[in-house]
Amino acid sequence: MKTIGLLGGMSWESTTSYYKAINCGIKEQLGGLHSAKMALFSVDFAEVETLQQQGDWHQAGVILEQAARAVEAAGADFFMIGTNTMHKVAQQVEAAVSIPLLHIADTTAEQLKADGIETVGLLGTRFTMEQDFYKGRLTAQHGIRVLVPDAADQASVHRIIYDELCQGQINDDSRQVYLKIIASLAEQGAQAVILGCTEIALLIRQSDTSVPVYDTTAIHAAAAVDLALS
Ligand code: GLU
Repeated sequence: MKTIGLLGGMSWESTTSYYKAINCGIKEQLGGLHSAKMALFSVDFAEVETLQQQGDWHQAGVILEQAARAVEAAGADFFMIGTNTMHKVAQQVEAAVSIPLLHIADTTAEQLKADGIETVGLLGTRFTMEQDFYKGRLTAQHGIRVLVPDAADQASVHRIIYDELCQGQINDDSRQVYLKIIASLAEQGAQAVILGCTEIALLIRQSDTSVPVYDTTAIHAAAAVDLALS
């Protein structure tokens, strides 16, 4: 079994989901007392979030470079960044180590393509929905058309992530807001919606909506299990 390097803490609420999903996946495949070999470096998200607000992505990337070097030194064979947003600095972090990165957008795209999804809605932080590092990769490298909510809905989705989900608050009113936005993306032609922030699955389950939703945390964790056992 390979050792998985996980850069976590962004936020720790979703890192707990990763930790559980990866260990459950290994146990499912190998049974008994088997569990994942993992090196986890969990950052202080307040430091990262402050740099995001200031637009200092390079410095936020430096924090992740240090974390990536730490998991490499701890014996990780490959690493993953446990947040969609921070893949904005994926290239910078990849360049700091010699182990490969398991990219969250690629693992999600592989799943979408396997299911025949050509047009998809994307929910995530403002950075993920607005900028090109994530949607651009889905389109340019995987041929998937990406729809995002309008500006007002993007603001609601973003606020709920940082003010509620990353702080462990799960509110029914916010669930209704997300479900309305998911329905509207489907009406505009999205065959499915990517839960493109690693905390959204804490709020939205597949059983809440008839629109297929793709939980990036679960997909990323499952891909890590496959890679660890390959
Ligand atoms: N976990 C979130 C994501 O997947 C947001 C937190 C962050 O800004 O990293 O994008």
